[in-house]
Amino acid sequence: MIFIDRQEVIALLPEGWKAKAKTVTDALHAASGSAERKEIIADNEELWRSIKSVLAGVGYHKCWYCETAEIRSDNAVDHFRPKGKVSGTGHGGYWWLAFDVKNYRFACTFCNSRRHGDGGTTGGKADHFPLVAGSQRADSPLVSISVEIPMLLDPCDYFDTTAVWFDETGQVKVNPEAEAIEENVPDRVSRSRDLYHLDHVRLIEARKRIFLDVLEMCDQADGALLLYKSTQDATARTVFHDSINALKRMRREDAPYSAVAKCAVRGYRSSSPSAKIIAEVS
Ligand SMILES: [Zn+2]
Repeated sequence: MIFIDRQEVIALLPEGWKAKAKTVTDALHAASGSAERKEIIADNEELWRSIKSVLAGVGYHKCWYCETAEIRSDNAVDHFRPKGKVSGTGHGGYWWLAFDVKNYRFACTFCNSRRHGDGGTTGGKADHFPLVAGSQRADSPLVSISVEIPMLLDPCDYFDTTAVWFDETGQVKVNPEAEAIEENVPDRVSRSRDLYHLDHVRLIEARKRIFLDVLEMCDQADGALLLYKSTQDATARTVFHDSINALKRMRREDAPYSAVAKCAVRGYRSSSPSAKIIAEVS
């Protein structure tokens, strides 16, 4: 999960979009009941679909939850707080946020919809929006959503993006540094892994590959550095510099599963001088 700055999305909205969203939201507030609201939402779906490319672009055409690249899949605009109903609760959905751009997340099918994975896993957020135990829920537009402590990690919340850690297993782990700050981090990571389907076997395999690629590149850089130091061989120096460039590229947010690459570099920094340079200097 990488951080997505909602301000960037807002800055890129097409002219007139906010005004249209406000008109529809006003109509929702004025509606006589849930049936009329559902109709208004269904009639105006095009409004969030029309900015799908903006959301995709801000996240480098990767799912905001799992970082899988949108290549041929038809990714969706997920309402982080579900607009129609909230599974497992009597909540009728955060309809007043249906046209609030801050509630949109760009999501792949596996994160967004209930699906079975090929390794026997099941996941997909769908209408789920659990809160941590004891949290108040905003059950009407009169209650600010700031009273809520969502159980699901949010890519638009930088702290949340630091809560997940990856290692050579490709599995989703808890970042102990984040846990030291907020004790509910392990529960939130575990629930997010299940609901975003982050333990999907294909995803685990992809993460493992990235992790190993990073370690291999670190070893290559370290080997070249050692050779250069002992022989002053210019070619070895070039290999070292090129490898450092490659490592830097793998950690860039537009790179595949860049959060995994960052964890790999960080985790390897105590034994690899190259990883140390990348993790602590760049
Ligand atoms: Zn995803």
